[in-house]
Amino acid sequence: MRTCLFCKNTGIFQTREHIVPESLGNDTDILEGVICNSCQNYFGREIEKAALEQTPIAYWRSYLGIRTKKKHLPSVNLDPPARGAIPAFHPASDIGIGFSAHEDGSTSIDVDNSVFIQRLLSKDTDEYRMILSPWHLSIIGRFLGKIGLEYVALSDLDYAFSAQFDDIRSFVRYGSTTRLWPIYWGQQGKLEDLKEPIVWAGSEGRQEIECYRYALGKMIRGEMLFAFSIGTDLMVVCLTKRLPIPDIENCIADTKLACVFYPDGSW
Ligand SMILES: [Zn+2]
Repeated sequence: MRTCLFCKNTGIFQTREHIVPESLGNDTDILEGVICNSCQNYFGREIEKAALEQTPIAYWRSYLGIRTKKKHLPSVNLDPPARGAIPAFHPASDIGIGFSAHEDGSTSIDVDNSVFIQRLLSKDTDEYRMILSPWHLSIIGRFLGKIGLEYVALSDLDYAFSAQFDDIRSFVRYGSTTRLWPIYWGQQGKLEDLKEPIVWAGSEGRQEIECYRYALGKMIRGEMLFAFSIGTDLMVVCLTKRLPIPDIENCIADTKLACVFYPDGSW
């Protein structure tokens, strides 16, 4: 008998849980028999799908051309859901916009938004604006919390079951319509360098783009942090304490993070 890492129901689980989704290229970091079928299905359906298709992570997947687990190049439409218990819409967000990766390494933007087309034509903008609504932050916070706690479990399963992770465990599995998990967000590297190929002199080779990086870290006072980067975005969550901790803004060397958060019940 095993206990599920998230819902704590007991049973015999035969799940193989990819800690980072296969669609981001992970085929090595896997938890076996640690998560129940119901939680695994729920995460795939309700959290990972949205994170991979409707958040900045979706943009990076298409920009970097990260193939799906069926080896297709990604094509995403970033429109948030039209309705739900947590607000997903912001009037300043550009909607009706998607991105597709192509075999030659390029990315195209697919626009079904006349206001945005007018702005492009009038040269008022060359930017796409995605506002991180409470819904986006809920999805990304739960996505990062799931991956972070699973990495804790991969290195020390008993520790991952300790009570200090109960709050994030519950937030990941059950979510909340009134509260979010703070995400500390910064930028690392330059966009133009991300696709810079490694060039062989006199040989031929295949180009692999690095997609994501992650790290677990522990603050001096014992709080457990999880950092995840994709493209130029670097995101950090504290796995053991939900309310903002100002020190975290300086926890990554040479990178200033800003806390992205809406206070409890503020929507
Ligand atoms: Zn479960």
